[in-house]
Amino acid sequence: MKTVIYPGSFDPITNGHIDIIERAVVLFDKVVISIVKDVDKGDSLFSVDERIKLVSDSIKHFDNVIVDSFDGLMVNHAARYNAVAAIRGLRALSDFEFEFKMALMNRSINNDIRTVFLMSHEKYTHLSSSMIKEVASLGGPICNYVPEFVANALEKKYNNEKN
Ligand code: ADP
Repeated sequence: MKTVIYPGSFDPITNGHIDIIERAVVLFDKVVISIVKDVDKGDSLFSVDERIKLVSDSIKHFDNVIVDSFDGLMVNHAARYNAVAAIRGLRALSDFEFEFKMALMNRSINNDIRTVFLMSHEKYTHLSSSMIKEVASLGGPICNYVPEFVANALEKKYNNEKN
């Protein structure tokens, strides 16, 4: 059985992430969405528990996808699951340099964890969680880019912040 992890902040999950998950499930037997706890950054909009909930609600229809969170080295987390690889999504060329360096560093730490790059649908190649947060904070339309419950959660966050 081949397990893969899909690490990231998922702050919050978008249709771009979901598109990557849909591509991953046909390649691997089990996909673990691995939310980085980023305890040191503390700059995420959603707490880890909130991010886990939004991811769980997004993956309900898959029977081979689960969600977990981790801190520390990604490759150590992957090894705990006996994962053969980690998935990263590639958007524009601008993602490439960072991802390239990260993949080589991870490989030098643990050669048993491969990095697999997947490309989302063209309609999501400009999409990032930070872009969504910016548009949502300004009251712009985001319904084409996130599930409805994510849009509602964002609206709640920003309305509460304003009040
Ligand atoms: P990070 O916090 O590492 O920037 P995210 O949590 O936003 O990453 O996303 C996790 C992974 O999903 C990254 O590899 C990122 O490139 C990828 N990703 C995010 N949005 C998209 C998208 N719209 N299309 C393709 N890949 C994406």
